[in-house]
Amino acid sequence: MTVTDPVSNLQTLIRCASVTPAEGGALTALADMLLPLGFKVERMTASEPGTPDIENLYARLGTDGPHLMFAGHTDVVPVGDATSWSHPPFAAEIADGELFGRGAVDMKGGIACFVAAVARHIEKNGKPAGSISFLITGDEEGPAINGTVKLLQWAAERGETWDASLVGEPTNPDRLGDMIKIGRRGSISGFITVHGVQGHAAYPHLADNPVRSIIKLAEALLDPPFDAGTDSFQPSNLEVTSIDVGNIATNVIPAKATAAFNIRFNDTWTADTLKAEIIARLDAAATGETLRPGRTPAKYDITWSERPSHVFLTRNNALIASLSAAVENITGQRPTLSTTGGTSDARYIKDYCPVVEFGLVGQTMHMVDERVALSDLETLTEIYQTFIQRWFENADL
Ligand SMILES: [Zn+2]
Repeated sequence: MTVTDPVSNLQTLIRCASVTPAEGGALTALADMLLPLGFKVERMTASEPGTPDIENLYARLGTDGPHLMFAGHTDVVPVGDATSWSHPPFAAEIADGELFGRGAVDMKGGIACFVAAVARHIEKNGKPAGSISFLITGDEEGPAINGTVKLLQWAAERGETWDASLVGEPTNPDRLGDMIKIGRRGSISGFITVHGVQGHAAYPHLADNPVRSIIKLAEALLDPPFDAGTDSFQPSNLEVTSIDVGNIATNVIPAKATAAFNIRFNDTWTADTLKAEIIARLDAAATGETLRPGRTPAKYDITWSERPSHVFLTRNNALIASLSAAVENITGQRPTLSTTGGTSDARYIKDYCPVVEFGLVGQTMHMVDERVALSDLETLTEIYQTFIQRWFENADL
């Protein structure tokens, strides 16, 4: 089996129907690629009451440092309506220079390229002067409870330590080489409930309309802006995602109203300082004189989503410089260092070592006809190979 070819690696992986939480043979196929390269491959199944068991994989080549970890996931999102695909979603067919299939870019393609890059590196230079590992979960697209978090804990308990990590998620908006992610915004969701008094719409003085209050509270969260952004991050942004009353009668003032919001925040804030700011704004709005004449303050409760995502920014120059130089060397384009977009498993890895993200072009991820250009697979493999070479050269500095 020649795993230096990212196209055949990717075809093998796509043909494993690994829709979360199914392993679908994908981790076994990956193990079959890594074992002949000399990796020690371990499988770890994580369990949690109320969630499906998830299979994960950890593989390491070498025993010494410096230690470079490649991280990612083999699970994929559902295909949607399979009949609307122009090529079956798990057939890995090639047409007009593109490879079609669920997971082609998110992110079996990234894994296929990294395997090929490691194989080429070994062919050219022998085993790396240190260690390379694969930390691959089957639970990124699902609840992510039995995935990267537990796999990291499991590996760390066995004494594994890492010096740097590259996550192979699709990070490029339009063209391979556009963008490296060096951090991510944090994310918190909250739910506000305002309690009023139900009554007749024609006799509002006998009732207490919570709809007036929920609008004022929501406005207090939307304005003024939380910050103006930082050198590395765009401004924090809060969106009110729902306002619910559930009242179908136009002549009844309801007893309660609820609102939900999500905020994506930068490194001006921590989860705790941000929650304090939000509560201060709500308290001020709830006591506002214009709120409900004669009836201030409004009574409200707030609850928070269970697991906030914390903001992070990677400042490891050896890692960022090695990757940037590799991208520029192969594509001729200097990549933007970005912190935009949603969260990823990098938010867990950052607790163990510096982490950056770079992969394929994300345009068709999660869509019908997810696909990748064969030329992009070759280019990404060359970038990863150059990165591996440079990182091991720079890691001692
Ligand atoms: Zn992904």
